[in-house]
Amino acid sequence: VERTLAVIKPDAVHHADEIEDVITRYGFSVLQKRKVQLTPEQASEFYAEHFGKMFFPSLITYMSSGPVVALVLAKDQAISSWRELIGPTNSLIAKQTHPDCLRAKYGTDDQQNALHGSDSFTTAEKEIRFFFPDSIVE
Ligand code: ATP
Repeated sequence: VERTLAVIKPDAVHHADEIEDVITRYGFSVLQKRKVQLTPEQASEFYAEHFGKMFFPSLITYMSSGPVVALVLAKDQAISSWRELIGPTNSLIAKQTHPDCLRAKYGTDDQQNALHGSDSFTTAEKEIRFFFPDSIVE
């Protein structure tokens, strides 16, 4: 079993129950869950790889505009299956090309895209530690 970090972003938190139903229906186990309001500093740390990009300031404003729900999901190939279930980064494109994905359903555009998913094993472990610093390393 593999673990990944999912984040329900501020624009989709009001749909969190519905999204969690989809998560369990797709066979993921929710190992940990936490609702947290990120400070701009914490959002900047989480998205540090994008520092300096044009969209960075508005990304930080968006990610700290309200609480997010962070979930540790487990399943065989959790990282790629969760990325597939959320769909393309840009929700506008997702609505055209992958109408059943979660970003098509709950997101709005290239920034407000409702959900995050770790993109590799290394990133997943790092992002899980970011939201769940007390979690036991397996
Ligand atoms: P995430 O890391 O949130 O799962 P991703 O890996 O699909 O998304 P990244 O390229 O890592 O996409 O971008 C991180 C986040 O920054 C995106 O999810 C989106 O909210 C925002 N973002 C990415 N590209 C743009 C853009 N061109 N304009 C505005 N916001 C953007």
